[in-house]
Amino acid sequence: MLISEIFHSPQGEGKWIGVPSIFIRTSGCNLRCWFCDTPYTSWEPEGEKMSVDAIMEHIAQYDCEHAVVTGGEPMVTHEVETLTQRLHTAGKVITIETAGTILQDVRADLMSISPKLSNSTPVKDPAWAHRHDARRDQPHVIHELIKQYPYQIKFVVDQREDLHEIEAYLERYPDIDRAHVYLMPQGTTAEMLNERMDWLQEAAKQAGCQVSRRMHIELWGNVRGK
Ligand code: SF4
Repeated sequence: MLISEIFHSPQGEGKWIGVPSIFIRTSGCNLRCWFCDTPYTSWEPEGEKMSVDAIMEHIAQYDCEHAVVTGGEPMVTHEVETLTQRLHTAGKVITIETAGTILQDVRADLMSISPKLSNSTPVKDPAWAHRHDARRDQPHVIHELIKQYPYQIKFVVDQREDLHEIEAYLERYPDIDRAHVYLMPQGTTAEMLNERMDWLQEAAKQAGCQVSRRMHIELWGNVRGK
């Protein structure tokens, strides 16, 4: 499978924020969010072809219980099934980061789903905008993922108007437990995150959801390998 990077870092968001983890970042995505913070795995996918054996050999250097399989979109390739099975056999606690548009028969201790809202559409690229909008919302995938796995749902919120769409989304999926829903500020600097966090906390309280910091951006900004 095409691997963009493998690194060791604390998780930056959600339920296991701060937990030291091995990140395995696959390259390739079926979506093209305009704000993608890893364009080297979506708009211009790059990386090294690695076998699952080679990935397991590489991560053996880290004495670390948690593994995060992320992307790009790790669910675009069937090889993610073998990879997560091998991670499970090795005793890893597995988080999969996905936009929730594709199903694979994977092992996961936490399915971390970031649904892409209408604010993600790359409007300046009409061809991709059409494909993106046709793919970004797959209700049967969301229902299956939250039925089959422990999960968290993470929404990146850019503007207050996004909150209406999130509320409509959650009303469409009454099987989602709002205690597992995190609202997170959009931003590439600590200042941008803090400005949005000011009003996001109250909005999350009213919606019965949680907020999540984005610790990796606060600490290091929007850089690779963190
Ligand atoms: S789904 Fe994730 S990796 Fe794919 S384009 Fe959107 S933000 Fe980037």
